Amino acid sequence: MTERRYDPQSIEPKWQDVWERERTWEVSNDEVGDAPKSYVLEMLPYPSGEPHMGHLKNYAVGDAVAHFHRRTGRRVLHPIGYDAFGLPAENHAIRTGEHPRVSTAKSIEQFQRQFRSWGVSFDWSREFGTHEPSYYRWTQWIFVKLFERGLAYRKEAAVNWCPVDATVLANEQVIDGRCERCGSLVEARQLEQWFFRITDYADRLLDELDSIEWPQHVKTMQRNWIGRSEGAEVTFSSPEIGVDYPVFTTRPDTLFGATFFVMAPEHPDVLRLAEGTGHEQAVRDYVNKAQTESSEERRDAERTKTGVPLGRFVVNPVNGERIPMWVADYVLMEYGTGAIMAVPAHDERDFDFAQTFDLPIRKVIDCGEELPCSADGPLVNSHRDFDGLHNREALERIVDWLDEQGKGHRSVNYRLRDWLLSRQRYWGAPIPIVHCPRCGLVPVPEADLPVLLPEIADYAPKGRSPLASAEDWLNVPCPRCGGAAKRETDTMDTFVDSSWYFLRYTDSGNDSAPWDTAVTRRWMPVDQYIGGVEHAILHLMYARFFVKALADMDLLDVQEPFKALFTQGMITRDGAKMSKSKGNMISPVPYVERYGADTARCYTLFIGPPDHDADWTDKGVEGVHRFLGRLWRLGADVAEQTGQQEPLGPLDEPEGPDLELMRKAHWAIDKVTEDMAGRFAFNTAIAAVMELVNEAYRQRDAVHPATLHFATATAASLIFPFAPHAGSDVYEMLTGDRVWEEPWPAADLGLLERDTVEVVLQVNGKLRDRIQVPANAPREELEQTARDRPRIQAHLNGHEVVKVVVVPARLVNFVVR
Ligand SMILES: [Zn+2]
Ligand SMILES: [Zn+2]
Repeated sequence: MTERRYDPQSIEPKWQDVWERERTWEVSNDEVGDAPKSYVLEMLPYPSGEPHMGHLKNYAVGDAVAHFHRRTGRRVLHPIGYDAFGLPAENHAIRTGEHPRVSTAKSIEQFQRQFRSWGVSFDWSREFGTHEPSYYRWTQWIFVKLFERGLAYRKEAAVNWCPVDATVLANEQVIDGRCERCGSLVEARQLEQWFFRITDYADRLLDELDSIEWPQHVKTMQRNWIGRSEGAEVTFSSPEIGVDYPVFTTRPDTLFGATFFVMAPEHPDVLRLAEGTGHEQAVRDYVNKAQTESSEERRDAERTKTGVPLGRFVVNPVNGERIPMWVADYVLMEYGTGAIMAVPAHDERDFDFAQTFDLPIRKVIDCGEELPCSADGPLVNSHRDFDGLHNREALERIVDWLDEQGKGHRSVNYRLRDWLLSRQRYWGAPIPIVHCPRCGLVPVPEADLPVLLPEIADYAPKGRSPLASAEDWLNVPCPRCGGAAKRETDTMDTFVDSSWYFLRYTDSGNDSAPWDTAVTRRWMPVDQYIGGVEHAILHLMYARFFVKALADMDLLDVQEPFKALFTQGMITRDGAKMSKSKGNMISPVPYVERYGADTARCYTLFIGPPDHDADWTDKGVEGVHRFLGRLWRLGADVAEQTGQQEPLGPLDEPEGPDLELMRKAHWAIDKVTEDMAGRFAFNTAIAAVMELVNEAYRQRDAVHPATLHFATATAASLIFPFAPHAGSDVYEMLTGDRVWEEPWPAADLGLLERDTVEVVLQVNGKLRDRIQVPANAPREELEQTARDRPRIQAHLNGHEVVKVVVVPARLVNFVVR
């Protein structure tokens, strides 16, 4: 027996050196044979400070997929880079004076060092940061393409303004009325801003969700964000002021119940309408007050309704009634046309408003005793042509009638707004536009890109971009007429940078184009994308929009960037989300130093299904470490006994313990393959290798050396995607070969036929887990296997086991108190 001990501190650097020296994971863009391609990508990290355990889990998931794809015969592109522009580096610069470029470089170095120490199989030759001029040159180039196509435009808009960060935020960056970054209440301001016309793509972004393999909950979030609703646009006219106001409604069947008309405080006509009505001052005061409220407050249905009359009337097109116009903050400019017809009998908020201001309420659908009610029912109090009709049928007929009269038509409304991309901040890609007094907005010619970020002395935001202080940079001749002009001083939202980085990886060294269309044709789309569900809306929507817009310009051949998406769960500690402010961030460093990267990687995958949140415990880490040690020592022992040899596979006619162990090995191959290929069930895949190793220990003295050799080499081969260093080391000890060059093992179906059975594990009669075991597994083994399961441990912890009921091939029940 060997006395050698599992020593990740020597094994891991040894294999990392091999991979780095031999550039093992680099892949060329040339088509090699006819191997299918696989593009495996984790969302690129934001380099701020050091990586935490959530990063390690993200890359452990991606690396397992990349290795599995390679060993099942695919040519794998698995690159890495950094989303390096953004506010944290800039805020750090404001505090310390250190240039964002310097702090970003330091952080990137931390990430690089840790990625290497984790042994992630990246193709390092394609690495870049989005803050490098060689990258953002092409971000600017894409901006110009979008501008030329009319997809980037400038307009004055009420924007979300964070008073602390002194910058504009996209709607998506406002969470419950607060800044996503610093938590301050967001204010409304009117500013000239740059937008991308993502709303032009609303229908395609919605419909083409059906063509991709994404988790349903992510698709649902995107659908809700796009917020397509069908209804009608109905025109309310105001003969006395000579203006028509269209409103969008999903309920044109309730039109006869519209008893007043409400406009959003931001509606551009509100102040003008009130002029000369005697309500002017009250309206002005109300509009000013509404500006300071968050849209979250305004959306709150429970809130007491406020508003003021405009002193004007509009005509309801279906019955000619004059109804009063109001301004009220429960109507949002972002929804529909910024004005609504109010039907208090059938809408909760309209009802509350009518009650507050004593406005008439007319029930027009017999939908319930109590008002307001929104259920279906026959129309009442409407018009003899419609009364008595079921409201769904009446809806269609009323819209047809409006259409005939030229007073309305079927219409679709979207919640999605255009993407506000300009930021009044320093650390981002400058928007490549020149403002010329004669020519207007002129894009910077391709030959003059990149527009480099100027060096400035003071990064602090002052309500305008810090770039405006760089006079030499600011004043340029107009590229079109040569006259004196000024550069745009806003920078781009960092989500622009990350909306196309996956294209750049295909050809990151290219300095004559952002990518080569022939090369993107070979690699795109990303076959497996991996990242946090927090990006379900922003990043994933924007990247889809970019790809569709680029495809429309014949710059790409794909319509979707990410064919399949996996969203991993968070790692929590003691049930709490890790955050810098709570000081409960788990750094991978001490774990990698003490137990090795393989242990940390396996543990993040083993603690539960990788798409669920999972709670970190140091005890669990030790359990995984012990398992890898047992596998490694078994490998060393067997190698000492048999010497290096090819894994022979089964004896011709294995029997008894040899047959048992062979079957276990093939069961594990089958189980891990299924868990990898079908469903990302890495936790149960690792558990299957653990079972195989346990079985090998149990049978080691009873089986032929070749059988033990096969079982151990198989365990090393199967654990490799999760623990690449230990897997490589054990496999080499046993065979002299490199496991990553070996094809993925295939299960011998003949050996799988024997029954394994599912045994349910209970604690106090409650189902807590299930295991697959040989049908004849003895009682003691069943009990021990059950006790070793983390989900059972979690329920036994802190309790006294008073009794264990084992029914072989059926169940194990722990009775605890
Ligand atoms: Zn903020
Ligand atoms: Zn000009």
